[in-house]
Amino acid sequence: MKILVQKFGGTSLDTEENRRHAAWKVKEAVQTGYGVVVVVSAMGRGADYPYSTDTLIGLMSEEIAGSMAEEMDLLLSCGEIISAVVFAGVLRGEGCESCAMSGRQAGIQTGGNFGEAHIRRVRPDRILERLHLGQVVVVAGFQGVSDTGCVTTLGRGGSDITAAALGCALEAEKVEVFTDVDGIMTADPRVVSGATRVKRLTYREVCEMAHLGAKVIHPRAAEIATEGGVPLWIRNTFSHDEGTLIADRLKLVEGIPIKGDTVVSGIAHITELAQVKVSTGDVTAGKRLEVLKALAEAGISLDLINVSPQEMCFTIKEAKTESAKKLLKSFDLDVRIEKGFAKVSAVGAGMRGVPGVMASIVESLTASGIEIHQSADSHTSISCLVRSEDLCGAATALHNCFGLSQ
Ligand code: ADP
Ligand code: MG
Repeated sequence: MKILVQKFGGTSLDTEENRRHAAWKVKEAVQTGYGVVVVVSAMGRGADYPYSTDTLIGLMSEEIAGSMAEEMDLLLSCGEIISAVVFAGVLRGEGCESCAMSGRQAGIQTGGNFGEAHIRRVRPDRILERLHLGQVVVVAGFQGVSDTGCVTTLGRGGSDITAAALGCALEAEKVEVFTDVDGIMTADPRVVSGATRVKRLTYREVCEMAHLGAKVIHPRAAEIATEGGVPLWIRNTFSHDEGTLIADRLKLVEGIPIKGDTVVSGIAHITELAQVKVSTGDVTAGKRLEVLKALAEAGISLDLINVSPQEMCFTIKEAKTESAKKLLKSFDLDVRIEKGFAKVSAVGAGMRGVPGVMASIVESLTASGIEIHQSADSHTSISCLVRSEDLCGAATALHNCFGLSQ
């Protein structure tokens, strides 16, 4: 049996009408002859929907929730379970034989790290049984079960991970991720109005874009698809647009060659960052290490880390500002923390060894009157920290500078 995994995000499932649009995509695939496994997110994005993840989070105070990690996962898993049952019902209404499963029933086994669990293995026997009975199997995304039998969740955007993992475990022909945009665009269309759809990308490019903030696909989903070699399509639930194909550069998928490795294939960004500067002129190397370890233990992850004899400078999520401040003060350090930053990155697997990319970035941001507060680079990306109010200007300037608007 040819198997297809289709994932629908929260905005594709938020209203009855939208759920019907999603169901038509499933019906089309069934009519083409696929055994279809559907992965769903919770219905709706944000706190305006009764069963969205944000609404469920809002049922508990932050402080209490922090002390009930295990139960919070149980609570949050309900959004996707409700969505799976409701969507299986919509499919039946459209004349499609269907059933719904929780992550546990679908055989998604994870580690025990509540809120951010990793999928360790998938035992898809029950899914296969139902597929062979001719049913469409609707699986609740974003969740699994730990070795000790606890319900776990995979982190925000985790339904993408479920879809990729099922695609690999079921040796699916492909995984289609349906969302509210036409595919992976050259930048977030909410930030850069001239962003255009990219027809095809390599796994490597997508992993990098996802890690640098392009939230259209979860980075871990791209990594799992890479390992399993399953092609990923990003498509719009509400259009017939072809979407974006993500596969290996050497592979021909459905006759489409994946060239990849463009110098800059897209602009990604991360918002709500705070910049931390710690004076370390008279601080020993041992104490500096202790500080870094304490931050890690407190679950505060650091980015754009620059260490020099006089100063340690890095960024954290704005939401972690208070806990970082408290922790750094306990070490009796001279600390300045400033909120209101965003990180803008130019991403392209082909920029390795190409001279002048950073010079072009500095030139275009300077010409737009935007100050760079920090920067970092890897083989496949260059990132700049800018003020939040400069985000749109900076992303648009880089988008234009690398000719992505055509
Ligand atoms: P879903 O609920 O379907 O999982 P998400 O909100 O997680 O949807 O992801 C889709 C959103 O990702 C889009 O609405 C878009 O604003 C944002 N996005 C960010 N970067 C990109 C990009 N490079 N291409 C497309 N969308 C992007
Ligand atoms: Mg998502």
